[in-house]
Amino acid sequence: MFEPGVMFWAGRDDLDMVRSLGVRYGQLGIPGGMQLTEAVAAQWKTALDSAGFTLVTVFAAYEGEDYADIPAVARTVGFVPLKTRAARLARTLAVSDFAAQLGVASIACHIGFVPEDAEHPDYVAVRRMVRHVCDHAARQGQSFALETGQEAASVLLRFIGDVDRANLRINFDPANLILYGTGEPIAALQTLAPLVISVHCKDGDWPAPGVPGALGMERPLGQGSVGIERFVQTLRKVGFGGPLNVERETEDQQERIRDLAEGVRLVRALAEA
Ligand code: MG
Repeated sequence: MFEPGVMFWAGRDDLDMVRSLGVRYGQLGIPGGMQLTEAVAAQWKTALDSAGFTLVTVFAAYEGEDYADIPAVARTVGFVPLKTRAARLARTLAVSDFAAQLGVASIACHIGFVPEDAEHPDYVAVRRMVRHVCDHAARQGQSFALETGQEAASVLLRFIGDVDRANLRINFDPANLILYGTGEPIAALQTLAPLVISVHCKDGDWPAPGVPGALGMERPLGQGSVGIERFVQTLRKVGFGGPLNVERETEDQQERIRDLAEGVRLVRALAEA
């Protein structure tokens, strides 16, 4: 499975487009507002099976999330905002059930900016939520993967140890560490490798210096500061064996599809090197 895959979104990308990129593996993102009925799951299952396409992860996103800058992320993303906690817990469990209907063995999301202080009420509440999601996922044979980037590798490692659930893992996104300014991605990968169950191949540049709260700029794969060649080499060295899921988040869909196609070509060349 050490070959390119694609991170794609229900409602934005159709499976034919993803297949046309020449990939057999991928990760499906579920927008916060999408209806998750058994009929919708059955449609996806039929489409995936007939395309011979394997999903390795189903990602949850939530209504009301805003990734404009770091304060917006802190205010709106993941399990941290108090007002949406109960609804997002229920939604995450529903995404786990949906993934189980598709036969997918891993779910993932951004949980947001967890405070570093383990006594902070938000830390305690988010830890409780993550345990709840892990226990629900474990009953379906799934892992629950946290997307990297919003905290340094050492902070994430300490949090995961504190949650203390065997199926809590990491979806490693090297660009996010750069975009959020939280650390050099290759070193972070070496630290986190034993917990990494899936990866994004995404690129980006560091935040502009002297602009408080600014995020860095996401870039087409190979054109940012990740060092994608070293990233793929390091994944191989640490024994990672899953698909290398190319992710591109730019708004313009034509540009995005073009960049995904280029990214898949680049990753295939690196994986086969
Ligand atoms: Mg990502």
